[in-house]
Amino acid sequence: MNIEIAIKKACKELKKNKISSALLDSELLLSKVIKKNREFVLLNPDKKLDQSDHNSFKDLIMKRSKGKPLAYLTGVKSFWNYDFKVNEKVLIPRPDSELIVEQVLKIYKIKKKINFLEIGVGSGCLILSILKEKKLFYGTGIDISNHSIKISNINAKKLKIENRIKLFKSDIDNFNLGKYDLIISNPPYIKKLDFKSLKKDVVSFEPWLALDGGLDGLSCFNKIIKKSSELIKKRGKLILEIAFDQKRDVVKILTNNGFYINKIIKDLANNDRCIISTKI
Ligand code: GLN
Repeated sequence: MNIEIAIKKACKELKKNKISSALLDSELLLSKVIKKNREFVLLNPDKKLDQSDHNSFKDLIMKRSKGKPLAYLTGVKSFWNYDFKVNEKVLIPRPDSELIVEQVLKIYKIKKKINFLEIGVGSGCLILSILKEKKLFYGTGIDISNHSIKISNINAKKLKIENRIKLFKSDIDNFNLGKYDLIISNPPYIKKLDFKSLKKDVVSFEPWLALDGGLDGLSCFNKIIKKSSELIKKRGKLILEIAFDQKRDVVKILTNNGFYINKIIKDLANNDRCIISTKI
C-alpha cells in the first residue's frame, strides 16, 4: 500500500470515530512510523509502505480512534519554541501555559540572573523553556511524581541545560530548600465535580494526579501559596496558572498570605488564566 491510500483509509477511520483533526493526525502518525517529517509524507504519496510499517501505522490509528491523545502516541509535544518528550504519566503541555513563560520573560527582560523554583514540573516544559531563553537563570523544580522527574531530566538533557537545573521528587510540604526570586506553578486545579465535563481525551488518558484539585479545585493553591510565602525572597514574584473561575478565590488566598496582586492575565479564549503577585 502506498502513503496516499494509507492516509486516506486512516483519515476515514478517525473521522468515523469523531476525531476532529483526522487528516493531520494521520499524517503525523505516519511520519512517526516511517521516521520522516510531515513534509516527506505530503511530498511522497506514491511511496510504498512496507508491511511492518503499515501494521504499526494501523495500530496507532486504532489507538487514536479510541481517543488516546496524539502527543502520547508520538511521544512529543511542542511547547513554546521546543519539543518535549511526554508520556501518559505527565500532563500534555497546553498552549495556555505559555502565558507563564511569556510573563516571566517580560518581567525579567533586563534582569539577567535569578534563582527560581517551579512547583509541579510535569514534563518540565515551563521551567525548561524559561531556562532555555534566559541563559543565566538557575532553576529548581519539584514534583510528587517520580515519572515526572525522570521525563524532566530527559528533556533537560535534550535541551542541554542539565547544569542549570536541579530536580527533586518532593511534595511542597516537605520541601524547604533555598530562597527564590521567583516561584511559578501550574498545579492540579480541576474541581472534582468538573471532571465529568472534561474532554474524553483528557479525562480518560491524562494523569489525574496532574489535574485533580480536590473538591473545590483549590487544595493545591492553599499549600503552594502558604509554602511559597516562606520560600520566596522579599519582593519576589509568585506566578500561578488558574482555572477560568478561580480568580476570586486564589486572589483571596494570596492576599491572606502577604502577596500583592500585580496583574491577572487572560488566555486566548479570554478566560482569567494567570495571576502575577509579589511578596510584600
Ligand atoms: N488546563 C488543564 C485542563 O484544562 C488543567 C491543568 C491543571 O489542572 N493544571 O485540562
